[in-house]
Amino acid sequence: MAELRFNALKEIFNRKPVEIEDFPSNISEIFAVNVFDLPKMERYLPREAYLAVKKSIDTGMPISRQIADQVATGLKAWAIERGATHYTHWFHPLTDATAEKHDAFLERTDGSKMIETFSGELLVQQEPDASSFPSGGIRNTFEARGYTAWDVSSPAFIVGSTLCIPTIFVSYTGEALDYKTPLLKALSALDKAAVKVCQYFDKDVTRVYATLGWEQEYFLIDEALYYARPDLMLADRTLMGHQSSKDQQLSDHYFGSIPERVIAFMKEFEFEAYKLGIPVKTRHNEVAPNQYECAPIFEEVNLAVDHNQLLMDIMRRVARRHHFRVLFHEKPFAGINGSGKHNNWSMATNTGVNLLSPGKNPKTNLQFLTFLVNVIKAVNDNQELLAASIINEPNSHRLGGHEAPPAIISVFIGKYLSSVLDEIVSKVTTRKMSPSLKTDLKLGIGKIPEILLDNTDRNRTSPFAFTGNRFEFRAVGASANCGAAMIVLNTAVARQLEIFSSEVDALIKKGRKKDEAIFQVLKKYIIESQRIRFEGDNYSEEWRKEAARRGLHIITSVPETLKLYLTPQGKSLLVETGIFSERELRSRVDVEYEKFIKKVQIQSRVLGDLALNHIVPVAIDYITSLLDNVKGLKEVFPEEESENLAAPRKELIKKISYHISEIQRLVHDMIEERKKANVIEDLYDKAIAYERNVKPYLEEIREHIDKLERIVDNEKWPLPKYREILFTR
Ligand code: ADP
Ligand code: MG
Repeated sequence: MAELRFNALKEIFNRKPVEIEDFPSNISEIFAVNVFDLPKMERYLPREAYLAVKKSIDTGMPISRQIADQVATGLKAWAIERGATHYTHWFHPLTDATAEKHDAFLERTDGSKMIETFSGELLVQQEPDASSFPSGGIRNTFEARGYTAWDVSSPAFIVGSTLCIPTIFVSYTGEALDYKTPLLKALSALDKAAVKVCQYFDKDVTRVYATLGWEQEYFLIDEALYYARPDLMLADRTLMGHQSSKDQQLSDHYFGSIPERVIAFMKEFEFEAYKLGIPVKTRHNEVAPNQYECAPIFEEVNLAVDHNQLLMDIMRRVARRHHFRVLFHEKPFAGINGSGKHNNWSMATNTGVNLLSPGKNPKTNLQFLTFLVNVIKAVNDNQELLAASIINEPNSHRLGGHEAPPAIISVFIGKYLSSVLDEIVSKVTTRKMSPSLKTDLKLGIGKIPEILLDNTDRNRTSPFAFTGNRFEFRAVGASANCGAAMIVLNTAVARQLEIFSSEVDALIKKGRKKDEAIFQVLKKYIIESQRIRFEGDNYSEEWRKEAARRGLHIITSVPETLKLYLTPQGKSLLVETGIFSERELRSRVDVEYEKFIKKVQIQSRVLGDLALNHIVPVAIDYITSLLDNVKGLKEVFPEEESENLAAPRKELIKKISYHISEIQRLVHDMIEERKKANVIEDLYDKAIAYERNVKPYLEEIREHIDKLERIVDNEKWPLPKYREILFTR
């Protein structure tokens, strides 16, 4: 049984870095060659169509069928020139993966000749069978069709020989079955609400778009070892494994020199990314052994989300060419750091201003403070929904560990900005403010340094930290589609900005000066969102207690946290704003419950099988050899002496036997609990049953297996050990 493990290790000894095509020294030459971006549209489309698409990207205005036909013709010409033979609508179903169904550009003419075709009709809309995608009960089998519809704001691209057209995905009855549809709605709501607020400061602002720069963490594992670990293959994480004596204690991996095989892999996926217009910029070793990070230059949110999904896909494929497997699971190994996807987020205007970047003078700084305080207020009012947006089964293993964001949403802004907000609270009055007070206030905020970046103390323990010119939402899981978190965050801020401008307008109507009104509303928000601000150590036990006193949600249960989507606040934020219909929201939560149930179920089955078929037989085998040894001692030595010599062996036999029977008992009980849970109809109740009654067995069984790993003969142990998986490369 241990053969697979040892063969894998031998194979790795002979691995060499995979030779890759010469990396171009000038990235800009290949950047976006496989993307049908604006410059290419200008070349391949009639002027009229080019301008229409450009306008649609800028304003969200739909394009006509006739224009779509022109775009399709130009797109086809470009794609075929670049070697594409097929096309697909590329979308983000609720599975955390992307989906595609390829069709050839092929059609038979009347004269039975084959020609390459592609029309506006095929570009704009398709009808894939939606029956096998999660829909949370929205889609019945008798209306299995779904629609995909072109997202003009994200450009088409070519992967291999397939032209991919980013699309939204909705059911036959019009309900969203993906992340993109609600995300686009949220972003457009934010645009509208933020422009209105910007108008207080600058009449030239006509468009605000949210920006996202994700930092993607991942592990790389040699494929030979991966194949020898059924738990990694089927459940995406190790369900057993004794900790390696050395792992990350010495912090010698973080920012260390990148191993050669890994560099070759990184270069190749980056090369692929550049051709697809993904501006990856940063690469480095992360804290855990064999853990790495990659981050691009930030982009508009919708595009950034597409690029993240696309890059994860590319990384998986390129990893195979390098005999690696890339793991995006949030906690593939117990006892060492897990992986997240920090979402750096801000808002930018058409005039080129980053709204979360302090400006040069009091006026722009008041604008900066306005957005800063409104974001804090939005997070304060919607902390439960933000928690719901990032929680899922794999992320629950990571959050709250002392290396990852805590299981409580709070905001960190640093000492400097805290004092600025305190000053507003202490100085602003609800009465008419005197000119000297106003000057005083403006002077105060005028002093906010233009570059806060270097002045912001970085609190690495905060889940939502201001880092100088953006917020960093660190609780998002490494495997997640950023869309889920971005929908809630952008909707929450949009809604908050709307409320803000209506409150300011009301005060102006009452005769307050604009600045005065803004200050007064900001003061109110600062006071109201006091509880969400936390500057201390988020890992400390005191914070947990304090957060509970403040009424902040502490994530202890996945289904309970997901259920928060359905609270009155959830409906008010996500349904009243039109981002989801009530049915869509419910179905989405059902999809999440189902994912949770299935993930626990799979892990439970895999662990049960491995325990009974891989581990127990090996342990019994080892007992047999110990028994032979004891018998041998009896034959060779006089009775008393043989008894003495055999005593420690007998102890070992007893110990192993104990673990074996415990494993057998626990696996049996776990299966019984699964049976009970499986007959529960209500998805929430079922998820709770899986969480409370099935999931705990995973830990308990593992403990016994990990103890066995330490005592059973290394030569016999069937699964690659942590020290082998994490330190070979
Ligand atoms: P760190 O590890 O120090 O947090 P990184 O350089 O790894 O920083 O990542 C920072 C990320 O933040 C990058 O993707 C960067 O493009 C992004 N970022 C910077 N400014 C903004 C902004 N205004 N909006 C969104 N993302 C931003
Ligand atoms: Mg970061």
